[in-house]
Amino acid sequence: QRAMLKELKGKTTETKSGHKIHLYANIGSTGDVASVLANDAEGIGLFRSEFIYLEKDNYPTEEEQFQIYKAVAQNMAGKKVIIRTLDIGADKQIDYFDMAHEENPAMGYRAIRICLDRPEVFKTQLRALFRASMFGNISIMYPMIISVTEVKQIKAIVAEVKKELTEQGIPFKDDVEQGVMIETPAAVMISDLLAKEVDFFSIGTNDLTQYTLAIDRQNAKLDNIYDSHHEAVLRMIQMVIDNAHKEGIWAGICGELGADTTLTERFIQMGIDELSVSPTFVLPVRKIVRELD
Ligand code: PEP
Ligand code: MG
Repeated sequence: QRAMLKELKGKTTETKSGHKIHLYANIGSTGDVASVLANDAEGIGLFRSEFIYLEKDNYPTEEEQFQIYKAVAQNMAGKKVIIRTLDIGADKQIDYFDMAHEENPAMGYRAIRICLDRPEVFKTQLRALFRASMFGNISIMYPMIISVTEVKQIKAIVAEVKKELTEQGIPFKDDVEQGVMIETPAAVMISDLLAKEVDFFSIGTNDLTQYTLAIDRQNAKLDNIYDSHHEAVLRMIQMVIDNAHKEGIWAGICGELGADTTLTERFIQMGIDELSVSPTFVLPVRKIVRELD
């Protein structure tokens, strides 16, 4: 089995009829980059940047973050690296953020909500990301979006960051691709509008399933009804892809469902452009795609 998968290294991820998709890997720390390369992923489709904050006992500085993003971009040598901005709250708590106890943290103060509420924290990360964009092929992705207003607020902050970097004579790439995660039902329903604002969509099926089915993804007691193949979620994925394509942008999946090989054929029929999976699933997914007509 393993030997057979090995033979798929260096091969494209395309069906027998020549329909290609992009197959990237998800990482949770810089240490995972070796595994991304060893499993021959075409790029990184989700870099969960929160580990940088979780590992420390105080806010990581711009320079610390810059060094990490730069190293990943350089190690990936021109391959796409999609870095997701800070996604804490809910299951990921950080002491120095000093967040109040919440009755319902999954629906609480988290991810982009924190970043927009605390622009100084957000800007530090954005500055590091834009500076690192000089050293490889970095894209930026924003989590937990529910509205166009949020995207406009993000853009205003990005514009400030770019202006400041320019004034300071610090180089950055002006055309860094920016996308949003589609992981709330609200984002799905307004994906036609969001598609006009961003360069790509990446569907976070872990949270999207949780919020669509109203089932806490962490609650083991509900595992038996947490149906990741629920038709509601699959229809949402189709809607997101269609709305993306109407505006000429691409749509992928970076939640765990992207690695579910029983759905690969269906995703391709839906028109998915990209799948981002844990490094060890890259070759098994490529194998399935190459067996499809
Ligand atoms: C998701 O929600 O599907 C996702 C990829 O993000 P995370 O699992 O980090 O919440
Ligand atoms: Mg998520």
